[in-house]
Amino acid sequence: MSVVEIPDGSPFGVENLPYGVFSEAGGRPRVGVRVGDSVVDLSVLLGDEVFAEPALNPFMAQGPARWAEVRERIAAAVTADVPDGAVHPVRDVTLHLPFQVGDYVDYYASEHHASNLGRLFRPDAEPLFPNWKHLPVGYHGRSGTVVVSGTDVVRPCGQRKAPDEQAPTYGPSRRLDIEVEFGFVVGVGSELGDRIPVEAFAEHVFGAFLVNDWSARDIQAWEYVPLGPYLGKSFATSISPWVVPLAALQEARIPLPGQDPEPLDYLRGGGDWGLDVEFVVEWNGEEVARPPYREMYWSPAQMLAHMTVNGASTRTGDFFASGTVSGPEKRQRGAFIELTWGGREPIQVKGEDRTFLLDGDEIAISATAPGPDGARIGFGEVTGTVRPAR
Ligand code: MN
Repeated sequence: MSVVEIPDGSPFGVENLPYGVFSEAGGRPRVGVRVGDSVVDLSVLLGDEVFAEPALNPFMAQGPARWAEVRERIAAAVTADVPDGAVHPVRDVTLHLPFQVGDYVDYYASEHHASNLGRLFRPDAEPLFPNWKHLPVGYHGRSGTVVVSGTDVVRPCGQRKAPDEQAPTYGPSRRLDIEVEFGFVVGVGSELGDRIPVEAFAEHVFGAFLVNDWSARDIQAWEYVPLGPYLGKSFATSISPWVVPLAALQEARIPLPGQDPEPLDYLRGGGDWGLDVEFVVEWNGEEVARPPYREMYWSPAQMLAHMTVNGASTRTGDFFASGTVSGPEKRQRGAFIELTWGGREPIQVKGEDRTFLLDGDEIAISATAPGPDGARIGFGEVTGTVRPAR
């Protein structure tokens, strides 16, 4: 038997216990829990077949009573002696996509981000469209190109047309960008024809994780009218390997900043899922922004209610992302198009003026939230390096 070390101040203490899928060299991917700087193999610790699966989906499908029971058992087990062979240093394992992705929806829930993008994309119009404060605006993304943190991102090619050009040209994106987002995965789905009310959020959503919605702004700006984001977004979306259960986010819950006008009935009561999560963006190792999730206008409970209000079903592994997290201050903006104001106001990265991503650039997004008794809840990070267009 051995003891799991938890360094003082670790954001992966017993208050957190995020789930992921890992493998050792030559071994099969299976479900583990992050504790301190270790991964604890749940198939060994709890001796349950559901954790020998290469994805969280079968466990997530078991529902909230089972999630709570397992969380209690893990917390008790990792603070006592654990079986030899169950504990692996996180640096020695490979982390995989934590769940098999079903449908993927991306929202646009930050008023600061939506207003900034409105000013940049449509400088002569109202920054927000009339619908924006009545419903959480979103679109369906491409689930097959969701990749785990650390996966390289190949610069996308496509049609680009600057406003002063007569016709589009084809080639590698010249305005490759990031979007700092928060993701929520559905554990228990819903039937075709049914709706998920805002109050039922925690009965369906298993946990939260970090998302980088890579975006080619030149491709996006030309193609998005009138049906919305398409190839400027679908080439890659990166997610963090650890899914933090909602139970670990109870201390982070705060009211939303305020909704005016009051939304329609089916969106009311979603205000108790504001979340005080602080993101940090590093560009080639240098911190460039700290986007605050507490500023988001729409709550994830409202996003899920809206996604199903037409009777669309949901499945285990479906996820939705918040949209870019941006705050009111310049250094709280979660996309470079905002941070550099359309590329016109470069920022300094490692002593150089930078606007959009160059080949070889590495982005790392991390986040923490308040936990019980002054503890911090860590989400780990989502990283990616840009590779040249093919
Ligand atoms: Mn996005």
